[in-house]
Amino acid sequence: MRDNHLSRRRFLLNMAIAAPAGSLVVSQAAIAEELPRLSPDDPLAVGLQYVEDATKSKSTVYKAGDTCDNCLHIKGTAGDAFRPCAIIPGKTVAAAGWCSAWAAKS
Ligand code: SF4
Repeated sequence: MRDNHLSRRRFLLNMAIAAPAGSLVVSQAAIAEELPRLSPDDPLAVGLQYVEDATKSKSTVYKAGDTCDNCLHIKGTAGDAFRPCAIIPGKTVAAAGWCSAWAAKS
């Protein structure tokens, strides 16, 4: 099972390297699907006060309306429920989520 997962990931990474520039966005989306979701119990998530539902944040620095979806650090494809984040390597975060590293898009 794990070998199949790694083989698929390796295949997707090879496709991303070999793909023409125009199809790289599709390859990034495929790779994002392979990334595990950041657990709110992960030490990094706890340190950043990450929650999967921003409206449930108990942080004193959270402001209503701020979500991963409108954060400067979000990557991947708009509309996806879980997307990569520039400051959380190797994991995806909930588009509806939030953490204390939230920054406004310029
Ligand atoms: S940095 Fe932004 S996109 Fe990343 S988890 Fe925090 S709020 Fe979400």
